[in-house]
Amino acid sequence: MEKKRVYTFGNGQAEGRADMRDLLGGKGANLAEMNLIGVPVPPGFTITTEVCNEYYEIGQERFVAILKEDVEKAIKHVETLMNSKFGDVANPLLVSVRSGARASMPGMMDTILNLGLNDEVVEGLTRKTGNARFAWDSYRRFVQMYGDVVLGLKPTSKEDIDPFEAIIEEVKHVKGVKLDNELEVADLKELVVKFKDAIKKQTGKDFPTNAYEQLWGAICAVFNSWMNERAILYRKIEGIPTEWGTAVTVQAMVFGNMGETSATGVCFSRDAATGEDLFNGEYLINAQGEDVVAGIRTPQQITKTGSQRWAALAGVSEANRASKYPSMEEALPEIYKELDTLQTKLENHYKDMQDMEFTVQEGKLWFLQTRNGKRTGAAMVKIAMDMLRQGVINEKGALLRVEPGKLEELLHPVFDKDALKKSKVLTRGLPASPGAACGQIVFFADDAAKWHDDKKKVIMVRIETSPEDLAGMHAAEGILTARGGMTSHAAVVARGIGKCCVSGAGALNIDYKNKTVEIDGIVLKEGDYISLNGTTGEVYAGKVETKAAELSGDFAELMALADKYTRLEVRTNADTPHDAEVARRFGAVGIGLCRTEHMFFDGEKIKAMREMILAQDVEGRRKALAKILPYQKADFKGIYRAMEGCPVTVRLLDPPLHEFVPHDEKGQREMAEAMGVSLQYIKKRVNALREQNPMLGHRGSRLGNTYPEITAMQTRAILEAALELKKEGVTVYPEIMVPLTGILYEFTEQEKIIRREAAKLFTETGDSIDFKVGTMIEIPRAALTADRIATSAEFFSFGTNDLTQMTFGYSRDDIASFLPIYLEKKILKVDPFQILDQKGVGKLIRMATEGGRSVRPDLKCGICGEHGGEPSSVKFCHQVGLNYVSCSPFRVPIARLAAAQAAIEEG
Ligand code: ADP
Ligand code: MG
Ligand code: MG
Repeated sequence: MEKKRVYTFGNGQAEGRADMRDLLGGKGANLAEMNLIGVPVPPGFTITTEVCNEYYEIGQERFVAILKEDVEKAIKHVETLMNSKFGDVANPLLVSVRSGARASMPGMMDTILNLGLNDEVVEGLTRKTGNARFAWDSYRRFVQMYGDVVLGLKPTSKEDIDPFEAIIEEVKHVKGVKLDNELEVADLKELVVKFKDAIKKQTGKDFPTNAYEQLWGAICAVFNSWMNERAILYRKIEGIPTEWGTAVTVQAMVFGNMGETSATGVCFSRDAATGEDLFNGEYLINAQGEDVVAGIRTPQQITKTGSQRWAALAGVSEANRASKYPSMEEALPEIYKELDTLQTKLENHYKDMQDMEFTVQEGKLWFLQTRNGKRTGAAMVKIAMDMLRQGVINEKGALLRVEPGKLEELLHPVFDKDALKKSKVLTRGLPASPGAACGQIVFFADDAAKWHDDKKKVIMVRIETSPEDLAGMHAAEGILTARGGMTSHAAVVARGIGKCCVSGAGALNIDYKNKTVEIDGIVLKEGDYISLNGTTGEVYAGKVETKAAELSGDFAELMALADKYTRLEVRTNADTPHDAEVARRFGAVGIGLCRTEHMFFDGEKIKAMREMILAQDVEGRRKALAKILPYQKADFKGIYRAMEGCPVTVRLLDPPLHEFVPHDEKGQREMAEAMGVSLQYIKKRVNALREQNPMLGHRGSRLGNTYPEITAMQTRAILEAALELKKEGVTVYPEIMVPLTGILYEFTEQEKIIRREAAKLFTETGDSIDFKVGTMIEIPRAALTADRIATSAEFFSFGTNDLTQMTFGYSRDDIASFLPIYLEKKILKVDPFQILDQKGVGKLIRMATEGGRSVRPDLKCGICGEHGGEPSSVKFCHQVGLNYVSCSPFRVPIARLAAAQAAIEEG
């Protein structure tokens, strides 16, 4: 049978279903599904995502030939259901042409509405409806969208406004009106003429009059938009493969712009910002779909509660609100009731928060889209836990519902309440996406990205955002817009990517050309600091202090639930008592990596360390090490206290020595004086330490084996600290870890020194403590000979940073020169330093774990590289049977959740 390329829907029937989103895209699959469950949807058809790939393979001409018959048949189907005819003058069928990929990519691709109009059909439509304003409003919108999307009339630079908007502004100006809906039929006719002129002048193209020609142009344009810059960027950020392709849905138009009983809107079954179980959304009377999102007119709220909340924030009195900005619940109560019933129905059907689009045509409600709504991290957690309590999903379902990486948003600092009180509120907008953000003002997306690269924190300030601004929004700490509501582009995207956003702050007067924003008489320039409170909508002058987030309520419950199902333990990488405390609060059950070198860099300690390295002989080194010992001990005690009752893995000194010595003459002179030697001598020693390739040089266990005194001193510090705390009644379980082992004997030599020093200490103090001696596995040879190393080592910790580096032979410090090209050419799918390479590095981990346990069945194995906090890598660690993962404090909750998911997914 010929491959099925087109799936129709309408009138309560559909060839597709919700679970066919890979083929029909999310939008197409859900339009089909809504038909099947009795939600009113205008009829139409979806061209599959496979056809998108075909389109790119065979080119436009052959593509049209192949699809012609199917599309014409599907149009007939729509004509029958709508009782009208595509391209007909007397009784025209108008359609929209919409994009829709598997994963939702809001606003990234193109949509065209009101297709099928021309100079004659518009007259026919006028006669048929008796509504000239509506007919011409639809026509001017069509010419505008088609001119932009298909014929390519776009702004030429970032400071320029859209050429169509420029024409509209000009016509409004001449006429002396402010809003689009104040334009009359004659003005709309003038717009159509001017639009077409502009298109012809700048692109040389005539506007097509034939309906089918328009349709094919639009279908191809939607497929083309799969490869536009912003869609490519979005896919890159979200990790969506190019091969997925987009589907195209062609659907009969329903009109929200037919007068006062017509409207269009967007709604959410729950609050996407906070997760509150509150139906909410925005609508506009006498408007078409795009108007709500684009922030052209300020939309009104759907529910009365929402409307009152909005009014309080916007400083609008109740009387004013009720008369000028009534909610849909008040203005169109019948339709509101129906909408409310259907949104509940959809949420129950999909068992998740829904983000929906609808249009009311002369009192009749139609749904145009539903999807699982994007939400903030906080909303994600609350909705999952609420739905669990409401019995919609079970515990495992709730855990699987939460995206581990998105938890990070909840851990970010919040504004300090006292600091807020002292700060000056510049203005207020809508609390579009919660959080605290503080940074320097920039006005353009590319500037945001540039400044961000220069390590500056920026707030992107815009009149409104558009899909082109995505990269800038990612780079910014927060986003502030002058226009647009809670469902505007800025708000939806910010919530999706977890950025703080205040939208629709009407008091902002933004001047892109001069890069200034004026707020009630105060003028701020690019580079000035402001702070945004995305939770309240307040905008503050300057920097406002922040503090750590509270982690209680739903978050704590979710984490407790994770622990119930998880098998992997989650430890942390912490070098200071502070980090250890933070991680403990986040639920770490031990330290998997405590790096001791950072302790040496600090203040006075560096001098003693330098003395040790620069010493002429063993004696000199011992003397210097004696000075370091008390510092190390004090550091360990602090960390142990924070980790009472838990294992703490301390890694012996790892980095190359040359990193510690002074390379400037001033520092060298200082050391010469302190040690009573000549500057000449110091210079000679520093030179001697220089290495061609320090990463593969004199570091790790090679240090401990050439300077055993260091290992002895560190052992003493680690164990003496534990013994002293034991006296205070604080128990810890030290684990001494030898770094960079490649050969069994490298390890056993170190172990001998450690055990000897421990025995000495225990005799001296007449007390003892349990401890383990193990090693990092970060050299491929160690992984290959794990069954030998485990005869001595009591635990393995996979140092996947070095292990990745050495397995691939990529220097971590130099990868930037080729990684971007490798990713682009798909030689590498991802950066292996961020996401564990399961096939190669992972194979070594699996092998080493099995090898080690073959000789020591109770060998404890963990991972302590960056990967320990990356969800897919954590899941891999679970599958391999590691005992724990260890990651930086802020990733601990992420790892805990990922570990639970791994256990659940394993079944
Ligand atoms: P996006 O993916 O950018 O949201 P959509 O395809 O959903 O694009 O369409 C953009 C807007 O046009 C939405 O508000 C949608 O509801 C509206 N729309 C699309 N098709 C129709 C239609 N057939 N009738 C009325 N409105 C439509
Ligand atoms: Mg949409
Ligand atoms: Mg290492």
